[in-house]
This record gives sequence, C-alpha cells and structure tokens, in this order.
Amino acid sequence: MKSMLALMLASACFHARAADLPPCDKAVRFTAAWFADPEVDTTKPAAELTKIGAGVSHSGTQLGHVVVETKLAVTPQTMCQGVVVRLDYIKPVLRVASEFPPGSCAYARVMNHEQTHVRIHRDIARQFRELTYPWSTGSNSAAILAYAKLELDRLMQAQVRFDSPEEYAKNFSACGGEITRLVKPAAPTRPEQTPR
Ligand SMILES: [Zn+2]
Repeated sequence: MKSMLALMLASACFHARAADLPPCDKAVRFTAAWFADPEVDTTKPAAELTKIGAGVSHSGTQLGHVVVETKLAVTPQTMCQGVVVRLDYIKPVLRVASEFPPGSCAYARVMNHEQTHVRIHRDIARQFRELTYPWSTGSNSAAILAYAKLELDRLMQAQVRFDSPEEYAKNFSACGGEITRLVKPAAPTRPEQTPR
C-alpha cells in the first residue's frame, strides 16, 4: 500500500512537471531520418523483382527497384510542450535485375533510374521536414498521425510521376535495345498509370 502511494505521488509529480514545460515554438514539429545509401542487391532476376515489388510499385516487369519500409511515429517533446512527428526509413534496398551484367550499358541505365528514385526519396524527406500542421493540436496524436500519413502519400506521388510511360519507353529502347534482349518483357508492359 505504501509503495503504491509513492508511485502515485511520483506520477502526479511527473505530470505537474510536464505541464510546467514552456510551449514549443511549433506545437507539432515534423522530422525525417536521412534516407541512407541503400544496400545493393544484383542477385535476383527480373521475374523475382517483379514479385517482390508487386504492390510497392506499378505493374509490369521490374528491371530494378528501390524498396524501403517507412515508419511514422508521434512522440512528445521532452524540453517543451509539443510533439514530434518522425519519419523513419527501414532497410532501403536497391535491386538491379541479375540479367544485366555490371559494367553493361543496361546495368548502368537501370542503376541510374533507381538512383533517381533514391534522390526523390531524399527530396520527399526534405519536404516532410518542412510540413506544418494546419490545425490546433488539442494533443490529438491520432489526428496528427493521420495527417502525416496523408501528406507522405501525397509527397510519394513524385515517385509515381517519375515512372512515366516516357521514362519506361526510353529505358526499353536505350543501349541499342540491350535491355529488351536481356529481359523479355512479360505480357504487355505498359505501366498501369493514368496521367494526372
Ligand atoms: Zn522506377
């Protein structure tokens, strides 16, 4: 009974201290981890990449891809009253289909395309850090998280826009047709995409 009381006092004390903290400059601060250089995997054929990447990306044969898990978390600030929304990237992996020998034109072409996706990820992280929460917080972290998810989805559209039919057509005809010789496109390869 005694120890229980001590615990209650301690927590009451903690709450009093938290309420005493000065308000943060921004009640909701957005932050994002650095999108690290991805691990490079060149061991899997295009058919396998297509399976792994299904759902992550558009349909059609994947000659390469960048896959990453994103994590969003809302946590209280420690030195002031407010919250931080943090975007984290877990284990980014860049894959180039094993049909393309390193050093070949096709390999360089696909690698270059995937490196552009990495640059776009970094630009998305930069824009995420600049977000501002448009409503008063009311310390509703579920609403803040929902807003962060929506904004991240919106920013991620930049990846879809880069994978335009024009970019695909260029890759398939590049290197004197080397890419199409090495990987027979499965069925119709037209990316499932409507111009926005
Ligand atoms: Zn792409």
